[in-house]
Amino acid sequence: MKYIKLCKNCQNNRKDDDIWGSGYITWVADDNFECPICKHKLVDTVLTGDEEDELSDITRSASFYDSMIKLKQDNPIEFQLKMAQFKNQVQQQKSVASSSSKPKCPTCGSTNIKKISGTKRWLSAGLFGLASSNIGKSMCCQNCGYKW
Ligand SMILES: [Zn+2]
Ligand SMILES: [Zn+2]
Repeated sequence: MKYIKLCKNCQNNRKDDDIWGSGYITWVADDNFECPICKHKLVDTVLTGDEEDELSDITRSASFYDSMIKLKQDNPIEFQLKMAQFKNQVQQQKSVASSSSKPKCPTCGSTNIKKISGTKRWLSAGLFGLASSNIGKSMCCQNCGYKW
């Protein structure tokens, strides 16, 4: 298993906003244990490459990584729970992002659709009675004219 390495020297004067930019946590080849920035010897952390992958979806904050490394050392079970939580969070964020994408017409698939406003629905109910095709529908396709 590959572990993320860290430079104790850069750890002292890093910026918190970007773990990689500050040289704090670094992937190195197995035969190279020097910090690419200050040439100090790197030390192994307990974080695996896969875990780092998942955490990088959440944050790039160095202090966040610090606390996750500490948590894995002190309480591996709690650490696994947290990781599962983060995974869920990321998945939820991804599904929210995809469901908030543009609605499509169910018949022709066009995204050129308009919301039928409440006023317009009420007006057409008044003009054409309950038979109006707009009753109970809220969207109208500008492409094929389908309402739903
Ligand atoms: Zn360094
Ligand atoms: Zn359509």
